[in-house]
Amino acid sequence: MFDYIVLIPMLMAAIAAGWLLGRYQRSTQQLHSLPSRDYYHGLNFLIHNKTDEAVERFIRVLEINSDTVPAYLALADLFRKKGEYDKAIELHQTLLARSDLLHEDFLNIQISLAKDYNAVGLLDRAETLLQSVISDNPRDELRHSARRLLAKLYEKQLEWDKALNTALKLPDSKRTAVAHEMAHYACQLAEGRLGESGNDAENRLKQALKLDPTCVRANIMLAEHRMQRHAWRGAIKHLKEVADQDPLMIPETLQMLWQCYTELDNIMAYQSYLELCLAQYPSTTLIVTKAQLLQASQGDQVATEFIVDALKKHPSLRGFNYLIDLQLLQSDVAVKSLSTLRELTEQLAQSKPRYRCGQCGYDSKTLHWQCPSCKTWDSSRPVQGLEGE
Ligand SMILES: [Zn+2]
Repeated sequence: MFDYIVLIPMLMAAIAAGWLLGRYQRSTQQLHSLPSRDYYHGLNFLIHNKTDEAVERFIRVLEINSDTVPAYLALADLFRKKGEYDKAIELHQTLLARSDLLHEDFLNIQISLAKDYNAVGLLDRAETLLQSVISDNPRDELRHSARRLLAKLYEKQLEWDKALNTALKLPDSKRTAVAHEMAHYACQLAEGRLGESGNDAENRLKQALKLDPTCVRANIMLAEHRMQRHAWRGAIKHLKEVADQDPLMIPETLQMLWQCYTELDNIMAYQSYLELCLAQYPSTTLIVTKAQLLQASQGDQVATEFIVDALKKHPSLRGFNYLIDLQLLQSDVAVKSLSTLRELTEQLAQSKPRYRCGQCGYDSKTLHWQCPSCKTWDSSRPVQGLEGE
């Protein structure tokens, strides 16, 4: 919606300029020329508030030349955003058939046509167009935007190596905007190779962290890699780094940390870390984990006292469920009604998503590094509040 709001006044300004220019040019040749039918149709659409149709009619009045190409490209963008891909492709092909445009116009039109092909799934054609733009060695801005589109195209085809290598050819100043995605391409290349002998997986994950020092996934995968090699201390180091990268992701590291500290026979250190995180970033998982430790070491009563106190400050559905579990263990009376209540709250908890995409709101039970809905990388985080952390 925002695109339309911005695009339409810009298009109107471009049309007005183009129209006046054309009118001036024509007036020097034909003093009494009349506007075309498209112009009147455009006015009619405008009067009846059909802005998109009006824009289209007005632009079609414009003579195609290098001055009016930006207006035509904006019109094609409008078609694509509305899902009218055939119209966008047809318009681009009409423009490409012109032999009197500047070379840079052709490259711009090719990039724009590649976006249409990408949108309709003609990925091979989009790839060929973008590669031809890049090999044409155009000015920096065009080459960079062609490379970014090409990297996204490879991402769509799950060709992580090509996606990463294409993005790596961007200059540092342009890489910042895609560093997040590039780090995930590197992680994808390490996926399925953890624990292997040789340094391929490790190098890829280190590359991911170098590209994007905030990449939580790279640290979690490095920890997995170390754990498969029984390098528990190394794994702990990477898991603790996650807390500095993104405190919301601490719950994702607890189970692995528990395993590492158990292997090292050092549960005390695990408890200290838990306390530290709880003091700084309290969450349901941290609270329930601490209560479980207390229950194992000091019994149900101590665990109950702790969780009742914690729930007052940080209420949550999962914390409440754990409290009912403790009550069921302790009470002889009213067990039946408590069991029923527990079943109901469990159903309620099960019906709630664990993770939510910060971009599009997509809910899921498992953590997705790339949102299945909007395809944004790293946008899913544990749900916060009463029903989550
Ligand atoms: Zn999403």
